[in-house]
Amino acid sequence: MSAAPEFDAIVIGAGSVGNPTAYFLARDGLRVLVIDELASSGQGQNKAAIGGVRATHSDPAKIRLCQTSLEVFSRWKETTGADIGWKQGGYCFPAYDDPVERTLRSLLPVQKRHHLNIDWLDAEGIRWVVPGIAPEGLRGGTFSPEDGQVNPLRASESFTNEARRAGAVYRYREPVRTLLLRGTSVVGVRTERGEYRSRSVVVAAGVRAGEICATAGVSTPILPESHEAGISAPVLPFLGPLVVDLRPGPEGKTTNFYFGQDAEGQIIFCYTPRPPIPGENRTSTYEFMPIAAARLVQLIPRLKNLTVRRIWRGLYPMTPDGSPLVGNAPNVEGLVLGVGMCGQGFMLGPGVGANLAALVAHGRPLLEPEVFELLSPARDLYGGKREALR
Ligand SMILES: Cc1cc2nc3c(=O)[nH]c(=O)nc-3n(C[C@H](O)[C@H](O)[C@H](O)COP(=O)(O)OP(=O)(O)OC[C@H]3O[C@@H](n4cnc5c(N)ncnc54)[C@H](O)[C@@H]3O)c2cc1C
Repeated sequence: MSAAPEFDAIVIGAGSVGNPTAYFLARDGLRVLVIDELASSGQGQNKAAIGGVRATHSDPAKIRLCQTSLEVFSRWKETTGADIGWKQGGYCFPAYDDPVERTLRSLLPVQKRHHLNIDWLDAEGIRWVVPGIAPEGLRGGTFSPEDGQVNPLRASESFTNEARRAGAVYRYREPVRTLLLRGTSVVGVRTERGEYRSRSVVVAAGVRAGEICATAGVSTPILPESHEAGISAPVLPFLGPLVVDLRPGPEGKTTNFYFGQDAEGQIIFCYTPRPPIPGENRTSTYEFMPIAAARLVQLIPRLKNLTVRRIWRGLYPMTPDGSPLVGNAPNVEGLVLGVGMCGQGFMLGPGVGANLAALVAHGRPLLEPEVFELLSPARDLYGGKREALR
């Protein structure tokens, strides 16, 4: 007879998903081990995120997960005393043309059905919410005041602290090489330094998840896509919401552009490159800043004197249909996936973590099975894109 496993759950990856998962698992009384190949928590793609958190999606599963995330983030200071830079300024999607207006209006019924606080505002309303926004051609837009922003590095540090306080053990600089199987069940992991045994293993390894799952014969088609972002020196607070301009850029190289002012007054910004840039290149490009600056000033001309402090480039872990893979891995008992978060892993993190912890600890997620199933790793991933607002 073999010895009882030393852990109830091993979480691979101390990132946007892994840290909240470890926190909820440890709080549930499970013996948790978190393993990351990097030197501390949040050093993968978590720290590349600009920290936008919204429940105003169109996919019901993402809506529900992000409602949980918003609840966790917005109450974090009260729950733990830690400041993670939470700012409830909402999200605003302005519309300057008919296709964008029609897209945004078409999403409102499903968003309202999920009791999301979101409405269409006329141009004057948007100008009030986004002071200084270019008025020419502005038709109105949506505003969801309960969405917000968080500082991703502070959040991952704080989730780690709280998970540890609840008993979780963290091991850094330790790459996981393979999942250990007995028959069709996972029984632990092998790292560069040794083996650890556990009843369950949660893969939350971001862009590396595919390689790890493959060691148990589980296919997760996750491919990295690279995205750049930047941040300014702080300016006096003037901008409440995170603003998403869904228009493709006139330069032909951007699908959309989004930015906000964080709790410290810095303007943080990002765009989706057109065409997408597959691969793991994380070197900043020469073209990012001129393009981002032009889009920012086009939308809010008075930002033309902003001092930009830093730019960086990170990776989205993309799935073929643009939605994450969350739940039990097909055909391997005890293996649980929280992967393929695309461009929304930071905001999904606490919602995914709470549900995966419930699945591991109690055998069922918090969400109703039919909603949770929408993210099933066993679904048809090639049936088309699922969401209008990715
Ligand atoms: C420019 C940019 C802006 C973004 N803005 C937002 C935003 O505003 N809101 C939002 O929600 N999302 C945003 N994102 C997306 C978000 O950053 C990702 O979706 C999210 O971080 C993915 O979370 P994850 O936990 O899957 O991966 P990660 O946070 O990368 O965590 C995975 C962890 O696994 C570890 N790991 C990998 N392989 C191994 C191994 N073999 N052994 C041990 N450890 C391993 C890694 O070191 C890493 O720490 C943005 C991304 C970029 C690039």
